[in-house]
Amino acid sequence: MEFIRDYADWFYLIGAVLFILTLRGLSGPKTAIAGNRYGMIAMAIAVITTFFVAENPVVWMIVGAMALGAIVGIARARTVSMTQMPETVALMHSLVGLAAVLIAVAAIIHNNELAKLDVGLLQANGVNFHEMSKVHLFELFVGCFVGAITFTASVFAYGKLAAKKWAKTISGTWVKPVQALIFIAMFAAGIHFFLTGNMTSFWAMTGLALVFGWVWIAPVGGGDMPVVVSLLNSFSGWAAAGIGFTLENNMLIVAGSLVGSSGAILSYIMCKAMNRSIINVLFGGAMGGTAVVVDAGDKAPRNHRSGSADDAGFLMSNADSVVIVPGYGMAQGRAQNAVKELANLLKEQGVTVRFAIHPVAGRMPGHMNVLLAEADVPYEDILEMDEINSDFPATDVVLVIGANDVVNPAAKDDPSSPIYGMPILEAHKARTIMVIKRSMATGYAGLDNDLFYNDKTMMIFGDSKKVVEDMTKAINGNGH
Ligand code: NDP
Repeated sequence: MEFIRDYADWFYLIGAVLFILTLRGLSGPKTAIAGNRYGMIAMAIAVITTFFVAENPVVWMIVGAMALGAIVGIARARTVSMTQMPETVALMHSLVGLAAVLIAVAAIIHNNELAKLDVGLLQANGVNFHEMSKVHLFELFVGCFVGAITFTASVFAYGKLAAKKWAKTISGTWVKPVQALIFIAMFAAGIHFFLTGNMTSFWAMTGLALVFGWVWIAPVGGGDMPVVVSLLNSFSGWAAAGIGFTLENNMLIVAGSLVGSSGAILSYIMCKAMNRSIINVLFGGAMGGTAVVVDAGDKAPRNHRSGSADDAGFLMSNADSVVIVPGYGMAQGRAQNAVKELANLLKEQGVTVRFAIHPVAGRMPGHMNVLLAEADVPYEDILEMDEINSDFPATDVVLVIGANDVVNPAAKDDPSSPIYGMPILEAHKARTIMVIKRSMATGYAGLDNDLFYNDKTMMIFGDSKKVVEDMTKAINGNGH
C-alpha cells in the first residue's frame, strides 16, 4: 500500500474534485443521483487514503469503528422516512461536532503526554515530536469550540424536530444576558488556553461551548429549525476544516470548507426566500416570538367562495392548462401520490399540467421536490418559481394544495405586511384559482391571505389527500 501513501495528495485532489462535482450535481433534481454517486466515490477515496497514510494505526479500532458506523448508518438509512429527514440530518451534524471535539481533545492529550517524554527516546522510536505551535493551538481552539457548540445545538435541533419532550423552547428576558455571559466566559477561557496552553482553561472552554450550543438554539422556534439545521451544517463543516488543519489532512480541510460554505449559502437562500435575516432567525426567538405573528384583527369578516371536489374536477378537466402549487399541507396530508395520479389523469385528457415550486414551500429546503420525486412526478413537469411566474396570467387553473404563505399576494402588494418583499408564486394572476385546505386558518407566518378572498378563487375544504382523491374520482366518474 506504499503506492497509496506516496500518491496520497493526488488521491485527495481527486476526492476534492469529486466532492465539488457532488455539490454541483445536488443542485438540480436531474443530476442529483449522479451527484450522490460522486459523493460516495469521493468519500470512499478519502476514507481509504486516510486509512493508509495513518502512522502506526490501531487497525482493529479503526475497522471496528467503521463497521459500527456503517451498521448504524445503513440501518437508519433503510428505516428513515422522508418526513424524518430534517431531524436525521440534525443528528448527523451533532456527530460531526462531537468528532471535532474528540479529535481536538485527543490531539491535545497526545501532545501533552509526548511532551513529558524524553526527546531522544522519542526519536529513537521514530516519533517526530515538536512543541505545539500557536497556529496549531488556534486551530484546535476553533475546531473544538465550534464542534462543541455544533454538537449540543444539533442535539437540541434533533429533539425539537422529533418533538421530544426534553427539547423545550426557552424564553424570557433572562435568556439573552445568560447567552452573552456564557459566550464571553467561553471566549475568555479559549483565549487563555490559546495564550498559555493551560488545560483547565481548555476544559472550561469546551464545557461552556457545550452549554452555549444548547442555550443558543433552545429559544429558536420549531418552524425556524430548518434554517438552524442548515446553519449547523455549515458550522460542522468549519469545525471539520479546523480539525483538518490540526491533523494536517488536506482532504478534511477541503471537504470541511465545502460543507461550511455550502451550508452558509443555503441558510442565506432560505432566509432571503422567507424575507428574514439570519440574526432575526437566530436571536429573534429569545425575544419571545418565533415566526411573524399577526393581529387576529378587528377587520370585518370577509367573504370567500367555496366549492366541491366534483366542481373542481369538472373545471380542471375542461381546462387547457393547470398549474399545481404544492405547499406544507400536501406534505402534512401525505397527498403526493394522489396528486400525481390526478396530474396523470388530467394529462390523459389533454390538459397541460405543471408543478410550481417555491424555494421555501413546506418546512425544509427541497421539501416539495423530494415528495414529488418520491411520487415519480417527471422532473420536466416541475418548475421553479422564476421559471413559472411569467406563465400564470395565461394559466386556466391554478390548484393550490396546502400552500398559503408562498402564494400570499400581500408579499407583493402590502408594504405593511411582515412578509412584504418575500418573492411569491404569482398564483393570483391565473384565470381561476382553486385552494385545497382544511379551513381559513393561517399558514406558518400567521397571516391572512387575500388570495382566498379573490373573486376568481374557489376554496375546497378538506384534507389534501382526501380532496385530491375525490377530484380524481369525480373526473373518472364524469367519463371524460
Ligand atoms: P404554510 O405553512 O404557509 O401553509 C400551509 C397550509 O396548509 C396551512 O394554511 C394549512 O391550512 C394547510 N394544511 C395543513 N395541513 C393540511 C392538510 N392535511 N390538508 C390540507 N391543507 C393542510 O405553507 P407554505 O408551504 O405555503 O409555506 C411555507 C412556510 O414555511 C413559509 O412561511 C416559509 O417561510 C416557512 N418555512 C419554510 C422552510 C423551508 O425550508 N421550506 C423552513 C422554515 C419555515 P389549514 O390548517 O386550514 O388546513
